[in-house]
Amino acid sequence: MLSWDIGEAPGQFDRLGREERLDDRLVRSLWESGALVTVGPGPSVGVTGSRPAAKDHWLVTSRALFDGTEPSGESALAVTPTGSTAYDPSAHVLVGTLAGRGLFVDLARPERGQDLRRALGFLPPAEAVAAVTAVALVTWHGQAGFCPRCGAATRITAAGASRRCDGCAEDLFPRTDPAVIVAVTDDADRLLLAHQVVWEPGRYSVVAGFVEAGESLEQAVRREVLEETGVVVDRATYVASQPWPFPRSLMLGFAAHAATTALSPDGAEIERARWFARADLVTGLESGQLSLPGPASIAYRLIKRWWDAGAARST
Ligand SMILES: [Zn+2]
Repeated sequence: MLSWDIGEAPGQFDRLGREERLDDRLVRSLWESGALVTVGPGPSVGVTGSRPAAKDHWLVTSRALFDGTEPSGESALAVTPTGSTAYDPSAHVLVGTLAGRGLFVDLARPERGQDLRRALGFLPPAEAVAAVTAVALVTWHGQAGFCPRCGAATRITAAGASRRCDGCAEDLFPRTDPAVIVAVTDDADRLLLAHQVVWEPGRYSVVAGFVEAGESLEQAVRREVLEETGVVVDRATYVASQPWPFPRSLMLGFAAHAATTALSPDGAEIERARWFARADLVTGLESGQLSLPGPASIAYRLIKRWWDAGAARST
């Protein structure tokens, strides 16, 4: 499962510093004893091992909310040794090291694998972080072939951590778009969940949206909640973040307090918004009429954090 708390730092995954990535001898030696992981459209990633079927996955998710049973599987990243393949600096991107071994992707050989959102629920933490990094890098390289300043072609540098423009010598680095994701609660400790127009019926999650140009995170929290649900937030506290390469977000999780409770969903992005007491959540999940985000997402973690706080108070 994807680590998002600093307390669960990705111990065995090292994305390596710039100096190390610029050290051609080091990179080549990592290649020789290294392995390739496949990344493909979806985005998806090559995995191996057992994992519950998609249907069971959601059942396990809702159960985990109540009894603390985290979904489990025995998945691992599917890797193939680089073997006798020659290192190609124009196609091979160093993701990092996993348990000390170089992990690479070949940009020239995309391959469809397991949907990344699902895979994240089952991979061990270090491998989940490696998978997210691999997907983020592959997506970025796919979009950064030409310089945004002068339009000339760019090429891989620093073993894939950056690109260099051949026209104006500009160095390009992977970009991330900040987005806020907010668990809003009212004075009765009910949780605000919203249903997006594009989702399947019954699916609800916490409010989220991109940070706009010139905006602070606090302003984005207030604006997004107001725009999407009509609720005015008067306090917001940062909780945690999570990289979310769909295609290149960094989700910044907040817990916020509602000053008002009247709901007026925008109707464009949010079809319905609703205040949930814990009992409403149980009823909805057990009847199958409500589904929540997957366990690897920060949305799920924010919902679980609210759930657990109430459970702690009642014991
Ligand atoms: Zn340029």
